[in-house]
This record gives sequence, C-alpha cells and structure tokens, in this order.
Amino acid sequence: MAPRFYHDPYQTTLTTTVVAVEEHRVVLADTLFYPNGGGQPGDTGTLTWAGSSQEVVDTRYSADRHHIEHHLAEPLALAVGDEVQLELDWARRHRHMRMHTCLHLLCHLIKDPVTGGNVGAQQSRAEFDLTEAVDKLELEARLNALIANGAEVTSEWLPESILDEQPDLVRTMSVQPPRGKGAIRMVRVEGLDYQPCGGTHVANISEIGEVRIPSIKSKGKQNKRINVELVD
Ligand SMILES: [Zn+2]
Repeated sequence: MAPRFYHDPYQTTLTTTVVAVEEHRVVLADTLFYPNGGGQPGDTGTLTWAGSSQEVVDTRYSADRHHIEHHLAEPLALAVGDEVQLELDWARRHRHMRMHTCLHLLCHLIKDPVTGGNVGAQQSRAEFDLTEAVDKLELEARLNALIANGAEVTSEWLPESILDEQPDLVRTMSVQPPRGKGAIRMVRVEGLDYQPCGGTHVANISEIGEVRIPSIKSKGKQNKRINVELVD
C-alpha cells in the first residue's frame, strides 16, 4: 500500500505502535510523516505516549531506505510495542504542499531544462537553464493567473519502464527518480504538468493562493534560480 502521505496528504493525526527505537530515532508501524526527499523537507510534529510528548524535529529514510525514521529532540524512554499518537505540524506541511505544487507550475510555464529545486515553508526555489530571459513580474503574474484558475492535482503509479520509453517526462535533470521498485509515481496537474514526483501536493492548485517571486538570481551563464514565496 502506498504510504499515507500519498494516499491522503491531508491526514494530520495517527495512532500507531513503536517498531524500533535507536537513540533519538523511532520507527513506527505506520506513519503519516513525509520523509525528506526530492527537494521536500521531512515533516515535523509531535509524538505523544502515556501522558508525555516530544517534538519530532525531522523525518528521514533510514540509511538503507527501508524504514521511515522519526527524529526526536532527545533519546526516548520508549519500548517496542508502545502505543503512540503522531500529530503533524500541519501548518508547515501544508505550506510545503502548496510550494511543491507551485514549483510544478513553474515547470509548466518554463519549458527549459530544470537543473534543481528545493521546497521550503518560507521560500522555495527552482533552477532552470534558460534559453531566453524571464521577466520576474510577468512570470509572477502568469503564475498567479494559473493558480486563480485552479486545476486538479492527481497522482498515479506507472511501471518504471515508462521513463525509458518517455525520457522527456523527467523534467529535473539533476535528480533522476528512484528506480528499482518497479513502479514510479507520476503527478499530474490537470492540463498543465505531468512528471515523476515523490512529493506531497495540494488537491487543487487554487489552494496555493497568491504567490510572489522576490528574485531571479543568476547561478551561471544560462542557469537562473527563481525564488518563490507564498503571500500568506
Ligand atoms: Zn515534484
């Protein structure tokens, strides 16, 4: 089964049990926290058990990528089998979802090769090898017009052979989608963008709300970094 953050990215609480504890890292039987990856930060929130609670400061895959580890501020007095409640820092994650979907809209507006991208709750960025100059205010206006129009965001799993058959589907040249699982997750912004992506997204781009582009910075002769912020 696909992880919960794919199945329902709007779920914010979960009761589950401890599977493994090592120092300040906890693996749970189930989780709704997104692990750092694909340019999107790991989720944060709160872990509560038997009347105590502690902050989850990061979520990451284990070194072998087999497990999702919740990183806590301090080592825990938790045992395998303990029941715990997870609560997501929804305000932060929802900003990540809005920002991540917004970066896909930039990929629609700018057809040049994508060389990098990073999602943040306060500011996000996408990097392109531009073949022609981009006007900051014009791009911002086009982005906001798209968002105001709305479009559904959906995802599907396809056999990873699709990437060999249609290599153009991969927009970010610097980050190839993970292979070896047999299936690849494709994210579609209806009528606008379709690419492999492991991130969490809003259900409709209208949810992104108004955005601004504070700066476009030169990273090389053609390479430009476009910074994006949410207005609120
Ligand atoms: Zn993405």
